[in-house]
Amino acid sequence: MKTIGLLGGMSWESTVSYYTALNRGVKDTLGGLHSAKINMVSVDFAEIEQLQHAGNWQATADILSQAGRSVEASGADALLICTNTMHKVAEQIQSAINIPVLHIADATGQVLQADGVTKVGLLGTRFTMEQDFYKARLLDRFAMQVMVPNKSQQDIVHNVIYDELCRGEINPESRQQYIDIIEDLHQKGAQAVILGCTEIALLVKQTDTKVPLYDTTNIHAQNAVRWMLS
Ligand code: GLU
Repeated sequence: MKTIGLLGGMSWESTVSYYTALNRGVKDTLGGLHSAKINMVSVDFAEIEQLQHAGNWQATADILSQAGRSVEASGADALLICTNTMHKVAEQIQSAINIPVLHIADATGQVLQADGVTKVGLLGTRFTMEQDFYKARLLDRFAMQVMVPNKSQQDIVHNVIYDELCRGEINPESRQQYIDIIEDLHQKGAQAVILGCTEIALLVKQTDTKVPLYDTTNIHAQNAVRWMLS
């Protein structure tokens, strides 16, 4: 088994989900007492969040590149950046290290394509929904048409992530707001919806809606498990 490196803490609430999914994936495949070989560096999310909202992405890239070098030095064979948003600086992190970054949008695009999805809704932070680093990758590599919520819906999705989910708060009213937005995207033509923020699956489950949901945390982790065992 290869060793997977994690850049965690963004937020730690979702890093817990990664840890669980990676171990469960290895156990489900190998059985017995098998568990995942994981080397992690976990950052202070308050620092990252301030820099994000100040637009200082270079500083976030510097912090995460340094963390990536530590993960590489620990002996990990590949790196998972355990957040969709910080894939905005995935190229800078990749250029700082010699082990591969397993990209969350590639893992997600592969699963969507295999399922025959061509038009998909995307929920995530405002950075992920508004900017091009994520949507363009899905379009360029997987011919995926990506729809995002309208401006006021984006505000709801973004604020719930930072004010509730990254703080470990799960509110039924927020869940209902998310479900309404997911179903609105579906009515407007999205065949499925990407939960493109690693905390969203803590709030919304597939049992909450008939619209097919793609949980990027689980997809990313299962992609890594296949890579570790290949
Ligand atoms: N974990 C979230 C994501 O997947 C948001 C936190 C962050 O900004 O990194 O985008």
